[in-house]
Amino acid sequence: MSLQATVIAKFREHFGEAPAHVVRAPGRVNLLGEHVDYNDGFVLPIAIDRATWLAFSRSDTDQTTLRAVDLSEEISFSSATLSAKTDATGKPLPTWALYPAGVMWALKEAGLAIPALSGVYTSDVPQGSGLSSSAAVEMAFVLAWQTLGGWNLPPMERALLGKKAENKYVGVNSGIMDQFASACGEQDRLLHLDCRSLEWQTLPLPSDIAIIVADTKMRRALTSGEYNRRRANCEEAVRILREELPGITSLRDVDLETFNRLASRLPERVEKRARHVVEEIERSVHAILLLEQGDMVEFGKLLNQCHASLRDLYEVSIPELDTMVSVAQSLPGCYGARLTGAGFGGCTVNVVAREQADAFSSALAAGYEVQTGFPPEIYICSASRGAELI
Ligand code: ADP
Ligand code: MG
Repeated sequence: MSLQATVIAKFREHFGEAPAHVVRAPGRVNLLGEHVDYNDGFVLPIAIDRATWLAFSRSDTDQTTLRAVDLSEEISFSSATLSAKTDATGKPLPTWALYPAGVMWALKEAGLAIPALSGVYTSDVPQGSGLSSSAAVEMAFVLAWQTLGGWNLPPMERALLGKKAENKYVGVNSGIMDQFASACGEQDRLLHLDCRSLEWQTLPLPSDIAIIVADTKMRRALTSGEYNRRRANCEEAVRILREELPGITSLRDVDLETFNRLASRLPERVEKRARHVVEEIERSVHAILLLEQGDMVEFGKLLNQCHASLRDLYEVSIPELDTMVSVAQSLPGCYGARLTGAGFGGCTVNVVAREQADAFSSALAAGYEVQTGFPPEIYICSASRGAELI
């Protein structure tokens, strides 16, 4: 049964009638521009063909009642208790419920109408793998409230409200890329976002390549400390470089030549982190030109360089990610492979010749399992439309 059919059936089971509406909102994978969003760089994600599906109707009461099918959990809360982060019985909201409640809170803060709703949702975006299951949930709920509230915001505005929910209500310090990709995705097209100006464009993806995501299934706990340290290293680099370059506000303002000239002023660790960022921003700019020329061989090399940089300079890889990448890079048809997302576990992204996609996927799964003893999960993805009312 499709996820769409599932949420409709579960809604019926639960609320005794058909839902008034269904929305879908996708996860995402980033091809290039890793750990540059918080340095004002460029990111190149696609929205993937895995998504949260939410069936919903306006509620007869002031309570929003939600059923999360994948968790077998249910919650009721109202607009009045959003600030207290409590449910209808006064108990603290569980973490999973902070995502939809956070969306409702952010919309309320923005002065938008948020009628209480009854909803059922499910998703095939794996949770905590770096494919942004959280943004998919947020973008589904923003669209649901837009549908019932009778207002209409452009997708980037909706993305910013989802980000606010995640940053300020859930308490996760993430950039704008995830919600942007989920809201603004386009079929068969790569997205290109300037994280400083929030200007964005889309570029066609060649039809003869496949984007394949490989999940190591490794999840390392307590990675937020590492993430925050990387951000602090980047800020320290800007502080020191500003002595010579008074106009700069982020590493985006430093080109590679200037960086090389001044790099010796930075402590070794800070220099490594900053070098990754400066070079990765150059790679993401170069990537656009290569894509326009249809040069997937050189484009793929940028992914390989990105992985080496994340492993050696930014130091956010783990042995399982390195194994997944080196197995991939040895296989026929692979243009490029790298870890994607924050690192320390999760997925790799692979750009592969389409006619080799199936053989590549089987060989990658087998090769990874031989070396690690664990079977990975492999997803052949296509670039999909962003969040939509079905
Ligand atoms: P990801 O990289 O997948 O976005 P996060 O830790 O940012 O990982 O978000 C995962 C969290 O989002 C889950 O722990 C859960 O609270 C929420 N979430 C994601 N998908 C679902 C779902 N299908 N049903 C309910 N909650 C979900
Ligand atoms: Mg997330």
